Amino acid sequence: MKRLSLITALVGTVVAVASAAQQPPARPTTQQPLPSAPTGYQDTPMQPNGKWHIHDGTRPQPTVVTPGPYTLVAPPADAIVLLGTGTDLSKWEMQDGGGAVSWPIADGVLSSAKGMIQTKQKDFTDYQLHVEFATPSEVKGDSQGRGNSGVFMNGVFEIQVLDSYQNITYPDGQASAMYGQFPPLVNASRKPGEWQTYDIVFSAPRFKGTTLERPAMITVLHNGVVVHNQRTFWGPTAHKVIPPYAPSNAQGPIALQDHGNPVRFRNIWIRPIKDNQ
Ligand code: MG
Repeated sequence: MKRLSLITALVGTVVAVASAAQQPPARPTTQQPLPSAPTGYQDTPMQPNGKWHIHDGTRPQPTVVTPGPYTLVAPPADAIVLLGTGTDLSKWEMQDGGGAVSWPIADGVLSSAKGMIQTKQKDFTDYQLHVEFATPSEVKGDSQGRGNSGVFMNGVFEIQVLDSYQNITYPDGQASAMYGQFPPLVNASRKPGEWQTYDIVFSAPRFKGTTLERPAMITVLHNGVVVHNQRTFWGPTAHKVIPPYAPSNAQGPIALQDHGNPVRFRNIWIRPIKDNQ
């Protein structure tokens, strides 16, 4: 009996240690405690392959891979420079209403502010896209409330922007996730405040009339590390749902998200790919 109690106590200790080890890292100290954002959901619909709920917090966290040092990838000669080194925002507009972009810009660095923005060109289909971003160096909030923005292909397929450096959230919502659908293969995030890169190859969905013939497909490198390899979207990306495809998804603008966190962007360029159209 005594031995049994000893074993029970030992098992209890091991369980306690194990569960302590699974706790997310301590939240950063801020002057005023912020409310904790949810790190996952179980009350959302199952994803189409039946494996996980949308934003499932129990889905395995991608392995952390420390990327190599930042390297400038300047726009090739045939690229359309969407955001260059100056203050030219002539290729962008506010998504709501189409007015002039109100996000602050200085020396080629654009900071997200109120309202989403999108390119004026809205007939992008297949392309190579380079985007650089930096989440705030002063860490505030957690989970989805920390350095959240997004890069939208055709205006509706989001590759998530988030501070995912030691910041637990649902895996299909972390940095470089196909939001609400697929986590990145690995977590190649840099530290808060450091410049990070997305190199994206995107193929638009194809329709015959209103029937989907081929879904949207994406390959993404995050800080030079492959995080999606020719993966297809189940539909446009959204919070807690996966909306069905619509023929209007066949082309669209590049859009950048306002999620209430000041995320910086620079060096954005795109190369439409014409030879497979
Ligand atoms: Mg986002």
